[in-house]
Amino acid sequence: MADVTCVHCNQTREGITGYAYGGKLEAEIKSKICNVCWKEWKAMSIKVINEYRLDLNDPNANNMLIQQMRAFLNMPSTEGQPK
Ligand SMILES: [Zn+2]
Repeated sequence: MADVTCVHCNQTREGITGYAYGGKLEAEIKSKICNVCWKEWKAMSIKVINEYRLDLNDPNANNMLIQQMRAFLNMPSTEGQPK
């Protein structure tokens, strides 16, 4: 796995290994976020899911989680806001 210069911690570190939501989003995350910060978000995401009682089978809940992730990781959307 190549190193990435992470937009969250501003360090060049090992990239993410494993699944990161899939598709274009995964490619974006893996190009901007290091594995250390990804693990931080994975821990945080559990708190977010519990706090907002998100049902990830619901697309709106999924969008909300992605928005929370972008805010947490300092990774603003490049494609405008989701509906
Ligand atoms: Zn990082």
